[in-house]
Amino acid sequence: MKFFNSLKLSFLGMAIISVSFAVNAQSISEYRAKHRNLIAKQTNVKDKIKVEEAQNYARDLYGDKDVTSNSSDIYEEGWNSGSVNPYNSSNIPSSKNIDVSKYAMPVKHRMITSHFGYRKQFGRMHKGTDLKANIGDTIYAAFTGKVRLTKFERNGYGFYVIVRHDNGLETIYGHLSKFLVKEGQYVKYGTPIALSGNTGRSTGPHLHFETRYMGVAINPEKIFDFVNGHTHRDHYVFNKNSSDNAGNNNQQAAKSSKRSSRRR
Ligand SMILES: [Zn+2]
Repeated sequence: MKFFNSLKLSFLGMAIISVSFAVNAQSISEYRAKHRNLIAKQTNVKDKIKVEEAQNYARDLYGDKDVTSNSSDIYEEGWNSGSVNPYNSSNIPSSKNIDVSKYAMPVKHRMITSHFGYRKQFGRMHKGTDLKANIGDTIYAAFTGKVRLTKFERNGYGFYVIVRHDNGLETIYGHLSKFLVKEGQYVKYGTPIALSGNTGRSTGPHLHFETRYMGVAINPEKIFDFVNGHTHRDHYVFNKNSSDNAGNNNQQAAKSSKRSSRRR
């Protein structure tokens, strides 16, 4: 049996050698003639490139940057405030259709370790979803936008990043160990923005992830299906008085940051 196997192998080897001989056997003059023929048939393709194609190419190269120029007003209100919620609550529209079709999951793990909502034992809202993440795991921008804050809060978020997005949302990433972006930097969805950690008021390594519209914390699970790794729909409809929200006002945010011993 062994003998037959080695015989088969040597036949295979011979076959390969003879094929490569055949390829090499093609003379250089034949090869040149073939390629001369190809060059002769070449037409000027430049004229055929349409403006539209060039635009598509540029879009591929530069991502969705063109979207930003159409929505530059998004990057104005409270941009330099330095606070988690920089918005004036009186400006919040009652309803808003938010495009969440282009997204990335903020962390590779698919496990929720703590849900959004009221935490009885702490007497306050948990304004985000906690996702499984080990120290040093890459954290990705959930949507395209611009980094508004990279900051440290010892008794709260620890090292955290806030990104404001073209779609109007802001996302917050807490308890990080390292920043990979700078304030003002434009990031496309899926761009690595930080490394996960256990900084701030945290009981173990995880990512605290918030999705906010005009400062109103929306339950991230209403937008993302974290277990299956996608957004539920291409659009999320924000409603000011929806039960998806943590309820908004700056007073509440200020109060919770003063009560610094609470876990986020
Ligand atoms: Zn949390």
